[in-house]
Amino acid sequence: MEEEMSEPLILDGKALSQKLREELRREIERYTSAGYRKPGLAVVLVGDDPASQVYVKNKVNACRKVGIESIFYQLDKNTVTEELLDVIAELNSREDVDGILVQLPLPEQINQEEVILAIHPEKDVDGFHPENMGKLVAMMEDGFIPCTPLGIDLLLSHYGVGLKGKDVVIVGAGFIVGRPLSLLMLWRDATVTVCHIHTRDLKKHTLSADILISATGVPHLIKEDMVREGAVVVDVGISKVEGRIVGDVDFEKVKRKASAITPVPGGVGPMTVTGLLMNTVKSYRRRLRVHSTSTMKP
Ligand code: NAD
Repeated sequence: MEEEMSEPLILDGKALSQKLREELRREIERYTSAGYRKPGLAVVLVGDDPASQVYVKNKVNACRKVGIESIFYQLDKNTVTEELLDVIAELNSREDVDGILVQLPLPEQINQEEVILAIHPEKDVDGFHPENMGKLVAMMEDGFIPCTPLGIDLLLSHYGVGLKGKDVVIVGAGFIVGRPLSLLMLWRDATVTVCHIHTRDLKKHTLSADILISATGVPHLIKEDMVREGAVVVDVGISKVEGRIVGDVDFEKVKRKASAITPVPGGVGPMTVTGLLMNTVKSYRRRLRVHSTSTMKP
């Protein structure tokens, strides 16, 4: 007979998000009832990619619920780089805009590097500007950490998953998740391995993980035999298979081995949006202090 397995701890990103967003809502309410303006986040979407539309809608709704004013720009799919740069320049100079988010990926005629460089680092709540990436390398607290790595860090810390000295294995070295996450895990004193499409023996690496984080977008890449007994498993992947959202991890089987695991949906996804809200409020606080004698004061 099969030995009975204990159920793993579910790292519930939805529940933690609710809690953290409620705290943000109260904090913003304290500011606004003292006469300050609301925090402002500009969200720019170029084109009509259906997945991007869903992400942007989620972000705008989440802003509204906590009391962040969202300024939504929908630009035509044929927008050229210069037009987008003009929009960013205007947003950079607006007093009521604390954060600027340009939803990626951009249509191919747009030069993504130029766009990332154009966003003022102090309004770069996605944390993709090289100045903020550099601050992540340098462990400078005043930078913005990209939202998904930030959300994962908050989730692990909330559930008491220690990182110091642990073997963290990250599968996927993308610019948005894997790469900045590897720097953040190093900041937390983990021993970090980063795997990607050219990694020779993926399983050898994943089996050594105390904490295994997958961010590839390959459905069910991570199988049961690739996970060490008792590992903590974090699934960042989002793919659509036959109309269903699935992660990188074969959840039903892997959960038998993991001591803790994130669900998809309801794990990293909501924490990413929470990370964005936190970064926006971080910018707002800083800008209110800077401008506390100007128009922003009651
Ligand atoms: P990306 O395309 O930039 O990077 C993917 C990485 O995975 C690359 O480093 C690639 O080498 C690696 N990879 C691909 N196939 C592999 C394989 N077979 N074995 C090992 N490595 C492999 O993607 P990204 O922007 O980093 O996003 C990754 C996934 O995370 C996507 O599914 C995306 O939708 C999802 N995502 C989720 C959230 C969230 O909030 N949950 C946020 C951002 C991205």
